Amino acid sequence: MTVRTRFAPSPTGFIHLGNIRSALYPWAFARATGGTFILRIEDTDLERSSQAAVDVIIEGMKWLGLDHDEGPFYQMQRMDRYKAVLADMVTDGHVYPCYMSMAELDALRERQMSNKEKPRYDGTWRPEPGKVLPPVPEGVKPVLRFKNPQGGVVAWDDKVKGLIEIRNDELDDLVIARPDGTPTYNFCVVVDDIDMAITHVIRGDDHVNNTPRQINIFRALGKEPPVYAHLPTVLNELGEKMSKRNGAKPVTQYRDEGYLPDAMVNYLARLGWSHGDDEIFSRAQFLEWFNLDHLGRSAAQFDEAKLRWVNAQHMKAMDDVALSTLVAEQLAKRGITADDRLARICGLFKDRCDTTVALAGWAAAFYGDVTPSAEELAQHVTELIKPALSTLAQKLAAGAWDKASISTAIKETITAHGIKMPQLAMPVRVLVMGTAQTPSLDAVLELQNQQTVLARLQNA
Ligand code: GLU
Repeated sequence: MTVRTRFAPSPTGFIHLGNIRSALYPWAFARATGGTFILRIEDTDLERSSQAAVDVIIEGMKWLGLDHDEGPFYQMQRMDRYKAVLADMVTDGHVYPCYMSMAELDALRERQMSNKEKPRYDGTWRPEPGKVLPPVPEGVKPVLRFKNPQGGVVAWDDKVKGLIEIRNDELDDLVIARPDGTPTYNFCVVVDDIDMAITHVIRGDDHVNNTPRQINIFRALGKEPPVYAHLPTVLNELGEKMSKRNGAKPVTQYRDEGYLPDAMVNYLARLGWSHGDDEIFSRAQFLEWFNLDHLGRSAAQFDEAKLRWVNAQHMKAMDDVALSTLVAEQLAKRGITADDRLARICGLFKDRCDTTVALAGWAAAFYGDVTPSAEELAQHVTELIKPALSTLAQKLAAGAWDKASISTAIKETITAHGIKMPQLAMPVRVLVMGTAQTPSLDAVLELQNQQTVLARLQNA
């Protein structure tokens, strides 16, 4: 059997990390098994769906490298297909028209609630052999209800939650078409999952309640349901369900804030799945390890500090040239065009950064002005040290521009003025880099432009 998985987001808000994890696992499972990954946009909620939200889904997945093999399919473009399947179901007697009005439904619900019963449709319009249905009211367009099986149980072996069994008596006859003939959500999902030959449905556990209903519709259509894996919720840092309403950021914002796609994939992979104690792994390693047997059962909690740490580890491990491409994008946003020094700059500074934005902050000192704080200037660039700075400037102007020559110039200056290394290095860093905290001075200066260094030393 070839694995076929799908990600089926509703574009009703900007996709956040909790949502995109529901894309990562089906994608990984398809990739790990040589299967097919399908993107399906569930855009039938016309009021809440937006193109902007679709764009963030597609952009976010592209950024994270969650490439799909088929789609994107849009449910709104498949209406004719749903209606054709509905017509077949009418013919086959799996659905029936129900004329119960809203007012009647409300009254029924209230009666049931006051009797401490679970509110549910009571089957008034369900045709049964020998049953006399109420007279069809004039001018009322019916909904179509699915004839849910009566008696017995619906069961499935959930890859995350284990065996789940629901009694059919618990499920009432679901509305699968509205009075205007448009199909409802659960029905469209089943038709799609059948047409797209989905073998594994991996999705958020907010859909567990839909699953028994969907399974019954599958069977009415003569198909066996796929394997289900319902992923536990992702909580935000306050322990609430992650949602746009409580401040979850759109996925693409993490790109803008300087996170690496591989670090995000690594971090998201661990939000609900594990491979022993492994915390840091590459995309390839993840795909090698991933299966549905090690999905976590309890809710995972987002932790931004940990995400930053994971990002820092990936930055450290990343090839400098590859990293510099991402840093160049961040620099471009500041109007800076980098040059071929950037990969070496990245190599020198990446250990002290946890995002590419922070790294671009360091790199900017090599391409544009620096503004040391008055405090650091006062602390380090003292009258006492200015003669040494001037000696260093002279030596740097006269020597070759490589690390060894720069190092010699620094050492000679220290000796000539009888001072210690930090007394010279700190003011030079403040003047040239705008801060006293930098990697080794000769390495930093070598990557700077000679004229820039001399000009900045003159500011002393
Ligand atoms: N569209 C649903 C959602 O965004 C997912 C449906 C599914 O995966 O079956 O929650």
